[in-house]
Amino acid sequence: MILQSCFSQPTSTPRNCFSINNPFLASHLKRSFKNCCFCSFEKRILILKHDLHNEYCLKSISSNFKIRALESDAGQLDEATAERTKSDYGDLVWPSPIDEIPFWNRELPSWDISSEGPVDIQKDSDLMHIVHVTAEMAPIAKVGGLGDVVTGLARACLTRGHKVDVFLPFYECINKQHIKELALTSTYNSFYDGSWVATNVYRGVVSGIPVVFIEPSNQFFKGQSVYGGSYNELEAYLFFSRACLEWLQVSGTQPDIIHVHEWQTGSLPLLYWDMYHYLSLKKPRIVLTIHNMEHYGECRQEQLSKCGLDGSMYANEEKAVDDRTIGHNPERLSLLKGSIVYSNAIVTVSPTYLKETLCSGWLAGTLIRHRDKYFGILNGIDAAMWNPATDAYLPAKFDANNVEGKKICKLYVQRGLGLASEVHSRNPDTVPLVVCISRLVAQKGLHLITNAIRYVEELGGQMVILGKAPDGRVESEFRGLAELHSKGSSIRILLMYSEELSHMLYAAADIVLVPSIYEPCGLAQMIGMRYGAVPIVRKTGGLADTVFDMDDQSQPELMNGT
Ligand code: ADP
Repeated sequence: MILQSCFSQPTSTPRNCFSINNPFLASHLKRSFKNCCFCSFEKRILILKHDLHNEYCLKSISSNFKIRALESDAGQLDEATAERTKSDYGDLVWPSPIDEIPFWNRELPSWDISSEGPVDIQKDSDLMHIVHVTAEMAPIAKVGGLGDVVTGLARACLTRGHKVDVFLPFYECINKQHIKELALTSTYNSFYDGSWVATNVYRGVVSGIPVVFIEPSNQFFKGQSVYGGSYNELEAYLFFSRACLEWLQVSGTQPDIIHVHEWQTGSLPLLYWDMYHYLSLKKPRIVLTIHNMEHYGECRQEQLSKCGLDGSMYANEEKAVDDRTIGHNPERLSLLKGSIVYSNAIVTVSPTYLKETLCSGWLAGTLIRHRDKYFGILNGIDAAMWNPATDAYLPAKFDANNVEGKKICKLYVQRGLGLASEVHSRNPDTVPLVVCISRLVAQKGLHLITNAIRYVEELGGQMVILGKAPDGRVESEFRGLAELHSKGSSIRILLMYSEELSHMLYAAADIVLVPSIYEPCGLAQMIGMRYGAVPIVRKTGGLADTVFDMDDQSQPELMNGT
């Protein structure tokens, strides 16, 4: 926990870092509103704290809150910039929407961040061996923030001198080219559903982090994506959780901390304390991080029994019964609840989300009972993975002292997506680019995103949405919107996952929109700030802990968005 806290608030922040809580960020943003590197933008956009449904809406009104868009038409780059652009980016191949290969799929330079990051980090005195057991890890198996946080936290702990291993299912969809030194270490057997399953264990290095890949010989983790394969996901993660402990036992490894994440690895604390601790694993203590309480790991007793525990032993209020099902037949279990009860410490990803989870939701009672071991620690972003000064995916690099590269990035994205630059010649002012990069699920404020499209269009701005919708109905709604706008000059909706494009969009953005209904922490607003964009968010969870309203004069040193 302490380590996670250190990660959230790096002690030595590079000068070009816009991390949260960095006073440099506030002054950067203030400067960016006021001075020359951002050209003027006549239309004023602000977030009206609209009382309507207690939600925020984008509105154009005359106000003193002025967001200046980056000058973005090549013809309008100032002379000095144009000169430098010619010399520095003379061989840049500008993209076009009719390119056969979209610009984010072009051959991009290979990028190994393992050697990047602050060099002057002080080592901790009390060094530990930490094992993360996780369903996601960026960039090889990332769906959302969980992947980012596991990688960032592991790298931060390594930098501080700890020994770290990440245990990950060897998903079939993982691109092996991103793994260094990949080698089959051993084959062992792990128990599942009455028999022992031959399981391969590979070792490799991802972004400088040692990773242990667990590959069962059955159908688990096969498919083209991290989630949603044709196998039973709950059973696959039950298998994985036990297989990790089994491997620690077989290999005689006794880490100090086993750090589990989300419901997927929620059975591990139960398996540890009720089984493996009685066998040979004595030393480890268990930390659970709850990244999002949306999923509870609903599980039937007989499913839990498949991993070798007696499921009926956990079907009571003190252990793992899903309180919502009490009195129903059959009652269910919740792996998340079980792991809250059985872990030595529980962390959630922001102080405000901690308060929210203690006040609402059916797990509030359990969390209150375990309040003394429950902590809210703000996530951070990996300042090496998200660094506009070194980011390999950007057509031009930049930092707070040199934003010309950001102008190039914006123009590059506008050209590649066919967002009009002719608007600029009619209008001497340039157009702000609003970017929203998000899983398209109800939590993320889908109706606010669609409202924002309308407002941005009405206001003469531009907007790009990059998102994947796991739900078919949401997918088809956004597909309809994407088609509606595909020929226009101001809105683009890209329904897919692309790590590379996400980097380019953050770099191009003037504004990053995060209108979540609830948000345990949220990384998009932090990444946006690191790439010099202004975050516009709903005040909830971690967004409330990281974005401080420009209109709120009570803490002028913190103001960084709205
Ligand atoms: P959550 O974990 O709820 O998805 P976060 O804001 O914590 O939300 O983290 C989201 C992470 O996933 C960010 O790094 C964001 O850039 C990334 N992301 C979300 N959707 C996409 C997408 N379609 N393509 C690429 N990256 C995405």
